[in-house]
Amino acid sequence: MPKIPHRLYLTEDQMPTQWYNLRADMPEQPDPMLNPATGKPLTEEALYPIFCKELAHQEMDGQTRWVDIPEGILEEFRIYRPSPLIRAYNLEQTLDTPAKIYYKYEGNNTSGSHKLNSAIAQAFYAKQQGLKGLTTETGAGQWGTALSEACAFYGLDLQVFMVKCSYEQKPFRKAVMGVFDASVTASPSTTTEVGRKILAAFPESTGSLGCAISEAVETAVSSENYRYALGSVLNQVLLHQSIIGLEAKTAMDLLDEYPDIIIGCAGGGSNLGGLIAPYMRDKLTGKGNPRIVAVEPASCPSLTRGRYAYDFCDTGKVTPLAKMYTLGNGFMPAANHAGGLRYHGMSPILSKLYHDGYMEATSVKQLEIFEAATLFAKKETILPAPESAHAICQAIKEAKICRETGESKTILFGLTGTGYFDMTAYDAYRNGTMSNHVPTDDELAAGFQSLPQLEL
Ligand SMILES: *Cc1c(COP(=O)(O)O)cnc(C)c1O
Repeated sequence: MPKIPHRLYLTEDQMPTQWYNLRADMPEQPDPMLNPATGKPLTEEALYPIFCKELAHQEMDGQTRWVDIPEGILEEFRIYRPSPLIRAYNLEQTLDTPAKIYYKYEGNNTSGSHKLNSAIAQAFYAKQQGLKGLTTETGAGQWGTALSEACAFYGLDLQVFMVKCSYEQKPFRKAVMGVFDASVTASPSTTTEVGRKILAAFPESTGSLGCAISEAVETAVSSENYRYALGSVLNQVLLHQSIIGLEAKTAMDLLDEYPDIIIGCAGGGSNLGGLIAPYMRDKLTGKGNPRIVAVEPASCPSLTRGRYAYDFCDTGKVTPLAKMYTLGNGFMPAANHAGGLRYHGMSPILSKLYHDGYMEATSVKQLEIFEAATLFAKKETILPAPESAHAICQAIKEAKICRETGESKTILFGLTGTGYFDMTAYDAYRNGTMSNHVPTDDELAAGFQSLPQLEL
């Protein structure tokens, strides 16, 4: 009997040609986005000034189960997909666990993360509609990098608002975006009304994702033939990221494996929503019952300590309202090194599934994630992004439980990206200058104060 290979790459023709829309199998739909001015559900047309038409349609479409991936997108996917499914034999041995650990690795592209999957789709549809360009925000820089690559492929302009502290701390991210001709502005900036307002109130502000989103949306709606693109949270992004889970399931099926536990880090929920998609389908349709675990930073705990409520998706309150687990749009997470997980809210789809008991959530602290990341790098040779290390950390915890109980569980986790741009963080960990931050209940209460008061 052949041993299961370390790495399983599907062939190109085994790559999915359709995305899977989880909402089609949910017994109850996530609550609709609302217009903050009227408190009424948004229509698809109301989104046209913000997103291109096809994406506005995908955002609102809870019915279509399978969505064809256009050939123009598949062409770009084939450059770096299918991504490998890897069996972590060395890690298993080190942990002396009977558990089988698999991970789906999305870091094998220049952007270094899964974000390219949705960036390509969003740029493609914008080009198809004949737009001139896109605007977006980026926190840690992965999304801005991914979208700059995608816009360069399809010949679109890109304006990126980059959270000021990252802009200053990660000059090479900016340089990569420059290679792809994106123009990058530190946020808050003086180029938008929202930015000027925030700077007037907080002149020393080093920015936040919520604030950069406000600036990018304002710029898109006030520029002709521009639209806005967001790298996570939205329904359309989860749809695009379903390719991760569909590939993973095809590969696991070929190995005759079925995960008992599926683990992913959760910032806005896109990689997790994508990874779990076909397995959540099994759960929703009664064909399987894997445990699904979202892992978030203890410093920004939207699922584990947030409220399930309508909230703005940004700090400047220019976006529609979404019903989600949120810490409040005014929540300012402490500086931590998993920048891609520092968002106040969570995907409305995942929020609903979590609320209805289909998945679990847990939080981990910064020092333990770097301990896990370092062990993983030594055993599996991949230097993980700090965001991804949240999933690694939880996978290790589950594998250690198996060691105690003697159960040989099959664990699948998402390894979303590489940590090459996070060496300051790795240095801080190794120098002993890194610390844990867990917000107090009072700090969280201040964030909840910013939740909009709705008269529904
Ligand atoms: C952005 C990012 C995340 C978190 O985003 P999700 O939308 O929650 O998936 C995780 N890992 C990496 C490497 C990222 O760049």
